[in-house]
This record gives sequence, C-alpha cells and structure tokens, in this order.
Amino acid sequence: MTKYIDVAIIGGGISGLSAAVYTAEAGLKTMVFDTGKSQIKPISTVWNFPGIPEGISGQDLLAKMKEQMLSMGAEYIEASVRELKQKEEAESRFLLEVSSKDKEVDEVEEISAKYVIVASNVHLKPLQDMGVETEVSPAVPSGKISRVVGGSWNGETKIPGLYVAGLLSGISTQSIIAAGQGTQVAMDIISLEKGKAHVWHDK
Ligand SMILES: Cc1cc2nc3c(=O)[nH]c(=O)nc-3n(C[C@H](O)[C@H](O)[C@H](O)COP(=O)(O)OP(=O)(O)OC[C@H]3O[C@@H](n4cnc5c(N)ncnc54)[C@H](O)[C@@H]3O)c2cc1C
Repeated sequence: MTKYIDVAIIGGGISGLSAAVYTAEAGLKTMVFDTGKSQIKPISTVWNFPGIPEGISGQDLLAKMKEQMLSMGAEYIEASVRELKQKEEAESRFLLEVSSKDKEVDEVEEISAKYVIVASNVHLKPLQDMGVETEVSPAVPSGKISRVVGGSWNGETKIPGLYVAGLLSGISTQSIIAAGQGTQVAMDIISLEKGKAHVWHDK
C-alpha cells in the first residue's frame, strides 16, 4: 500500500535531519529515509559546531539531531531509497521506492510525496533518476563531491518540488553550513505551502 506524505527527505545526515526539524514542526508530514552513512559519523570529535565548545562526536551530533526531529513529529526510516519517479498528481508529485532491511526480509515500500529533498551527499542516484545533472563541486577541493549544475543556496532544481540539501547544493563542506542550508530549503517549502514567508520564533 502506498503511503502519502508531504515531504520525503532522502538522506538523514546533517542537512536532511536539519530540514526535517523544521518541516515537521510546521505540520508537514515528513519522513526521513537514511542508510546511516553520514560523512560526519566516524569523526571522533567535531570542534567547530557553534554552540558546542566542548566538542561532540559525529555520532552523538547525528543522534541529537535525530532526537530533535523525532520530537517535532518527523519519522526516521532506516532504509535506502532505490528509485525516485515523477507523477502527474499536483498534490503528490513523486513516488519513492524504499527498501528497508527489516530483520532478514528485504521489504520494499512505496511512498508518495508532494516535496522531495535529496540530501544524499555523494550518492547521486536519486538525482540521476530525475534527470538532474551534476558537476564537480568547486567548493570542495578533493574533487570527489558533486553538486547540481549551477547549484544554489536555496537548493532548487529544474523540477518543481524537487530540492537538494547539503553538499549537493554546492556549499562548503562544513556541518554547520549543511545544517543551515537544509534549514533554508525547509523554510522555503513551508513558505510555499503556507503562501507566506514562514518564521519560527520561540517564546
Ligand atoms: C573525513 C571528514 C571529516 C569531516 N570533518 C568535519 C568537521 O570536523 N567539521 C565539520 O563541520 N564538517 C566536517 N566534515 C564535513 C561534514 O561531514 C559534511 O559537511 C556534512 O556531513 C554534509 O552533510 P550532508 O547532509 O550533505 O551529507 P551527509 O551528512 O554525508 O549525509 C548524507 C546521508 O544520506 C544517506 N543516503 C545516501 N543515499 C541514500 C539513499 N539512496 N537512501 C537513503 N539514504 C541515503 C547517507 O547514508 C547519509 O546518512 C567532514 C567530512 C569528512 C569526509
């Protein structure tokens, strides 16, 4: 049975989890699909994340971000998105084929979403499925990181409703920037849905 949601996020690393905190808090039904291989995960201590002067391991940083997005109502699914397709329906423009390694069974589920945020960093297949071209990111000297051709901070692609977050947008390779850029994508999607610029101000 196909599940219908508002926002599907492919990749639960730094940018994907950040986006989910915001879209879920704004009331958009949000699911994060993740294969658990964020680049920050093996780092023993991250010293440059503002607000954490004592440092934090990559694993703990991801765990805290995940806890935060779950507390806002987003769902986290340990699974690989193996196909991404476009649909005709305005309210449900994308179909994701998701493969969960649940127990010993390889289960495949279909998810239908109005918005998709591709936050999969080095894994380009979701963008290739959609015919979105990538190029070597000039922001990362190793030459091993790609971005959407002409990538920009707002993460837009040529396909309405399809966004990229994190390094795929062409940003510099620092976690706090990936978190901020993922948040920008979420804010833009929420603003589009609500028909006015979104703000989240706590009391
Ligand atoms: C060795 C190294 C050290 C670093 N050290 C620092 C540091 O000290 N400080 C700092 O600020 N930054 C550091 N960085 C950079 C930081 O890791 C990145 O800027 C950040 O992780 C980018 O976030 P992202 O969301 O784009 O990708 P990631 O955080 O890498 O997340 C991508 C996620 O997508 C998932 N995924 C991929 N394909 C699929 C799929 N088909 N379906 C489901 N999920 C999928 C992956 O499993 C992963 O969890 C370091 C990077 C490296 C390589």
